[in-house]
Amino acid sequence: MTAEPGTPRDLDADSDGWWEATRERRLVVQRCERCGHRQHYPRMLCVACGGTDLSFVDASGKGTVYSFTVVYRPPSAAFVPPYVIALVRLAEGPVLLTRIVDSEPALVACDLPVELRWQRLEDGRHLPVFTLAGMGSG
Ligand code: ZN
Repeated sequence: MTAEPGTPRDLDADSDGWWEATRERRLVVQRCERCGHRQHYPRMLCVACGGTDLSFVDASGKGTVYSFTVVYRPPSAAFVPPYVIALVRLAEGPVLLTRIVDSEPALVACDLPVELRWQRLEDGRHLPVFTLAGMGSG
């Protein structure tokens, strides 16, 4: 009997550990034990050396805006515009596709420092999002 291809379990096998960490509000990145390279998203192989001995290590939650776009026409009514989709370069190096929240979209700019926030999902996991550093805390 062959495994059913394309099941959610198959698709998420490499990222299971990443998602499990979010239950404890821990943002992790994958580290190669052979060469030390850190990467995100989780993969079977190190993109730097091809090594397969990969582990998850905690990220600081600090980063900078690498690129972003402000969405004014959302794909569905579930999204309230305007909102900011961004690539955040983590202090550890990898880039994370995320959202900038609790920040005025007009103030978002490349290279600005951002801080990690968490949005709780219904199943107990959390989604890492970011806010401009020094903002959103009153
Ligand atoms: Zn490596």
